Amino acid sequence: MTPIPAPSTGRPKRVAVLGSTGSIGTSTLDVVRRLPDRLELVGLAAHSKWEQLADQCRAFRPRYAVLCDPVAFRAADRAFFPRETELLGGEDGVARLVTDPAVDVVVSAVVGAAGLNGTWAALEAGKTVALANKETLVVAGPLVTDLAARRGARLLPVDSEHSAVFQAMTGYAAADVARVVLTGSGGPFRGKAAAELEGATPAQALKHPTWQMGPKITVDSATLMNKALEVVEARWLFGLAPGQIGVIIHPESVVHSFVEFVDGSVLAQLSPPDMRLPIQYALLYPDRVPGPAKRLDWQALSALRFEQPDRDTFRALDLGFEVAARGGTCGAVLNAANEAAVGRFLAGGLGFLDIARCCRAVLDSHDYDPAPSLEVLLALDRWARKEADRWTPTRTPNPTP
Ligand code: NDP
Ligand code: MG
Repeated sequence: MTPIPAPSTGRPKRVAVLGSTGSIGTSTLDVVRRLPDRLELVGLAAHSKWEQLADQCRAFRPRYAVLCDPVAFRAADRAFFPRETELLGGEDGVARLVTDPAVDVVVSAVVGAAGLNGTWAALEAGKTVALANKETLVVAGPLVTDLAARRGARLLPVDSEHSAVFQAMTGYAAADVARVVLTGSGGPFRGKAAAELEGATPAQALKHPTWQMGPKITVDSATLMNKALEVVEARWLFGLAPGQIGVIIHPESVVHSFVEFVDGSVLAQLSPPDMRLPIQYALLYPDRVPGPAKRLDWQALSALRFEQPDRDTFRALDLGFEVAARGGTCGAVLNAANEAAVGRFLAGGLGFLDIARCCRAVLDSHDYDPAPSLEVLLALDRWARKEADRWTPTRTPNPTP
């Protein structure tokens, strides 16, 4: 059984936020703002939006601000940042922030495989990581969980489904759990047939019915690639066998996942779709305090619907189950191909259904390794992006060199 830590007492937890200018980053800052006795901000990191980062620094006066993009770091006007905030640049800046002894918890909220670097550095330094960046586990799940175990670092989920599973599982042994079932809203195209989606536009894909999120994960929700990535994330985060993970569509996004125990009992976690709750839970774990997240309206709550995912139309989901089962290099290749394909789709250069087709083709043509090193995974990440950038419906990717 995972031991539950004692409730915290005394000083606030000291927090660093990687990806502070994004959807999860700004929700995190909202939680910190509302719980000043519990949380204190030590540092923020963004990619290139230095003006927004400077605004955040003026509001929170952290010790560090990091711009990961060296061009933005050079361009940023220091006069916009408060005097007590030291502005750092690039990956060295991220490493300095996450390893600082003044940091207790690192919120990993960068989008894409770019989030792996800061998450890795934080775990290596033994920090608790509140993980929103699911791509870290998709790319290198076993290496990341092994690193956390070796360094005595705690990895706490922020992804709402995984937070729900974590909450429902806490206090039970792995052998008590029969399976987990991840819920998904079904995205903006739920109920549509493939023929209707061939010409789906970025604007349509970006209209999510229940969640406000960054553009990449919103497109992933429309293709169901997000659920696919979450299946892989659950496999490594909770050490589940692939056959223990299921997916069910739940359009209201109120039940955030289920855990079925060996005796047939099922526990779920419910709350309105508001990421501030799983963020707060990870930041304050194991404490529960009143915070800014919306509460269930028991007067308005009525039917909660559940349906099976349409795996013929949303082909990405099968890729997730397959990658979770095969492991090895598959996660890194699928993730990189998807990031590149989503980028092309958003730029108008690829059809909506081609995202999953492109990922399938790149995955199938890579040279599979069941137990790769981090270097091999990073090399495959670069290869898969190039192949996905070149892929067209009539062209198969080059085999891995
Ligand atoms: P956003 O696109 O809203 O924000 C991304 C953040 O990452 C920004 O701060 C951005 O900085 C920064 N960033 C982008 N590229 C890089 C890079 N190469 N190096 C360093 N920083 C970079 O994303 P979300 O907040 O929606 O998602 C973040 C992560 O959380 C994703 O992994 C997503 O899957 C996960 N997640 C998100 C949920 C949500 O509700 N949004 C729910 C569950 C999980 P800048 O602004 O300067 O470009
Ligand atoms: Mg999720």
